[in-house]
Amino acid sequence: MSARTFTPDRVNADGSTTIRMKRACNGCGQLLGDVDNRDVDKDGNLTDVRGECSFCAPIVALEAAGCRTWNLTRRNLNIVDDATDADGLFAKGYFEYVDDKLVVTGLRIGQGETRQVAKFGDWIVRHPDRTWTVHHAPEGEAADA
Ligand SMILES: [Zn+2]
Repeated sequence: MSARTFTPDRVNADGSTTIRMKRACNGCGQLLGDVDNRDVDKDGNLTDVRGECSFCAPIVALEAAGCRTWNLTRRNLNIVDDATDADGLFAKGYFEYVDDKLVVTGLRIGQGETRQVAKFGDWIVRHPDRTWTVHHAPEGEAADA
């Protein structure tokens, strides 16, 4: 597949702005470039473009290898927590101070020295051998929590 174009916004003489609609990664929301025919299938559904995303492409490969994956958000925190419980792995919310308030910013998986912390926007990967790893979001690009 050819590389996607990325047309910058253009400010017109009258002060208006002309934009080309952009496709966001369906895994993390990062803008990938201009929308084109690859973005909808024959039934009009949005296609999976995570393979084009530098952050999410490794996740697509892990899924092909049989891994289960979650992009951690506030909305699926309990679902992922339940999945770790089903593997006999302890997990709980990870708290940090944000603007002087203690708030949940992710999930702590495991205990002691082997514990891992996934922040909202990170990918959590359950491998077929029941090990769990965290694929961290690039700095400043965490998905909406
Ligand atoms: Zn992505």
